[in-house]
Amino acid sequence: MKAHLTPSNQSTVRRQNRRHVLQCVIDADGTASRASIARETGLTSATVSSIVTELIDSKLVKNSGRASSTGGKPATSLRLRTDRLCIGALIVRRHTVRAAAVNLRGEVVWERPIHRSPSVVGISDIRAAVVGLLENQPLALLSIGVDTPGALNGGVILESVQMQLNATDLAAALADVTSVPIHLINDADADGLREFSLVGSEDRSLLSISIGLGIGAAIVIDGVLHRGPHSVAGEIGHVRVDFTPEAPLCNCGNRGCLEQFASLPVVLGLDADADYLLDSPGFDADRLSERISEPGLAEKLDRSHRILAATIITICSTLDIATVAIGGDAPLLGESYVAGLRHYCELWQPVGSVPLQLRLTAGPLVMPFRGASEHALRQALDVTWG
Ligand SMILES: [Zn+2]
Repeated sequence: MKAHLTPSNQSTVRRQNRRHVLQCVIDADGTASRASIARETGLTSATVSSIVTELIDSKLVKNSGRASSTGGKPATSLRLRTDRLCIGALIVRRHTVRAAAVNLRGEVVWERPIHRSPSVVGISDIRAAVVGLLENQPLALLSIGVDTPGALNGGVILESVQMQLNATDLAAALADVTSVPIHLINDADADGLREFSLVGSEDRSLLSISIGLGIGAAIVIDGVLHRGPHSVAGEIGHVRVDFTPEAPLCNCGNRGCLEQFASLPVVLGLDADADYLLDSPGFDADRLSERISEPGLAEKLDRSHRILAATIITICSTLDIATVAIGGDAPLLGESYVAGLRHYCELWQPVGSVPLQLRLTAGPLVMPFRGASEHALRQALDVTWG
């Protein structure tokens, strides 16, 4: 029987084709032509030409010189435009808000000086950052990604122990400031997406564990960030790992949470607002890396490694993931931090499982806005830099 496309199916197909064509332009980095895209996607030349015209009209793509040709008339190459549209990116932490605009190639074109708050950052701080972004970034905003700790769903912060927020509709709170779509992404997911975008993995799957003031995981399977039907996949920081009555009390109100054994303040014997930590005014990466080798921390560090290794092995065995990146602030502690974790992951490798490849991410100081902006790009255009 011949299949008939309904108008809604046709528009879905058109949207998917548009995404494929735009992704080809991004991946080829200035060398794609209409003909090469047709070969790559299997679409007809007429369909590719029509979609390219649409992308040019939308200020996303431009004609750019001549592409190399296999003979005959030289083809016109296509390139992303970087002079018209941009993506806003906010990084919201317990005591800081950072804001930047990135162009469609992911390059920062504007950045606001870091805003520090002596008390826990609130909606007014985030609002001021968005206003600053709207007033100062040089291009037209396509969407805004907000990287923040907590369980999130769409534009709503469901629960954030670190930010002391719950059931807060951030997108609604910013609606009178801007109509640009706001896309929230959990800090651990942003970290994982950034790592996947910058480094990737051989089989396009990755478990990223962010360790800092809190602990969270990002799960990327076949290049797609897995959030789950309730948008809380990877919220492992408040999973109980000590079931004894004397298990330490967590600031979430429960006892024995993973964060009480493996977050950096606990491992390093610091309070939650210590100036060793990245979002504190006195932060100094060298002091933090020196701290890890101080005598007296060995026992806590070893305990955290054992508990984290068991957690990592369980997640990887469940989801068949072989590559693990340790991110958050932990990469600032250096290779010696991850060595202990790698030791237990190798020692306890389950029978019949794939050996885990454990690495540190590039750390929070390298392209910090990539996670939020990659998320906003994916939400706005359904394409990716990674
Ligand atoms: Zn807890």
